[in-house]
Amino acid sequence: MVVIGEAGVIESFSAAAERLFGWSAQDAIGRNVSFLMPEPYASAHDGYLARYLATGERRIIGIGRVVSGLRQDGSTFPMELSVGEVARGGARQSNASKGGPHLFTGFARDLTARQESANRLQELQQELAHAARVSTMGEMASSLAHELNQPLSAITLLLRGAARLVDRGETADGRVADALSKASGQAIRAGDIIRRLRDFMGRGESDRRVESLSRIVNDACALALVGAKERQIRLTLDLDPRCDPVLADRVQMQQVIINLLRNAMDAMDEVQERELVIRTRPQDDRFARVQVSDTGPGISDDMRETLFTPFMTSKKDGMGVGLSICRTIVEAHGGTIWADPDPGAGATISFTLPRELETPEE
Ligand code: ADP
Repeated sequence: MVVIGEAGVIESFSAAAERLFGWSAQDAIGRNVSFLMPEPYASAHDGYLARYLATGERRIIGIGRVVSGLRQDGSTFPMELSVGEVARGGARQSNASKGGPHLFTGFARDLTARQESANRLQELQQELAHAARVSTMGEMASSLAHELNQPLSAITLLLRGAARLVDRGETADGRVADALSKASGQAIRAGDIIRRLRDFMGRGESDRRVESLSRIVNDACALALVGAKERQIRLTLDLDPRCDPVLADRVQMQQVIINLLRNAMDAMDEVQERELVIRTRPQDDRFARVQVSDTGPGISDDMRETLFTPFMTSKKDGMGVGLSICRTIVEAHGGTIWADPDPGAGATISFTLPRELETPEE
């Protein structure tokens, strides 16, 4: 607790304030309180006080807020400050002449520990999300290798063919040029797969930008749906361009969509009819909605309760963390994720993410 008079001069400085700011009461009392604040607040403080006394307009008194404090060693720290106002006891003339009839009490609480644990929690969540991405890609390694092998074999065949034509001197009819251009198309395709993979596996500090939701969905599909054709899954993309600019961490959003797609594909292993629909729609002015529907056995009411809880799995080798990571990511973006009740008609999982009403950056 720090008590000041109308001119901002410290009249009382508690033992806890001594510990918090690193100044002794003896040093502090008699000085202007602004020396406990970093700039630009320190220079502005006398003005704040004068304005309050002149107008009665409250900016902080009785409201409280999080501000920065300045320690004796020059470091700053976050603190929660609530300021109260009291009339000086008895308002005796001697007191009034010393510091005016008003006293202000400031109660500060150090938020360093709270801030540190919030930062640490965010770090841990990022590490967990990264570990989950690596593990997802590990599970998909053989399908991805297969997917990469296709363009590479095609390139080999095309180049061999072109070399044969060159050997025979048959270069006039454009077939060599055709083979080379097809080979370069395949190389680009292989490069795209690797680029997506590398982006996705990167540790990636959380990085929210204006992104195209359609592009996020397309990239996620390109990774998640390798091998979908062999599993006889029909995919429909129904993307509404109106919700294209979103404010999101691209890699994390891809991770959410990939998790949902892989769950949907797993769920449809058991059934004949295998249809996967990804739909994007504006939810309202502020949010876009992404909906992933499948024609699997669906999600029972019991299961819906615990679906997003960690370690809940019905799979033999499942970890049960996919959906809980999805929820963490979606909620960190300010959105929500839920399973729609549609008994007997497969499962639909939807989530929302904030729209950005500007043109997306390329
Ligand atoms: P995991 O896939 O490792 O089991 P998740 O958290 O991703 O972990 O999923 C938890 C459980 O939710 C799954 O084991 C499954 O029982 C159920 N589930 C998720 N998605 C679907 C879906 N599309 N259809 C039916 N059940 C699902």
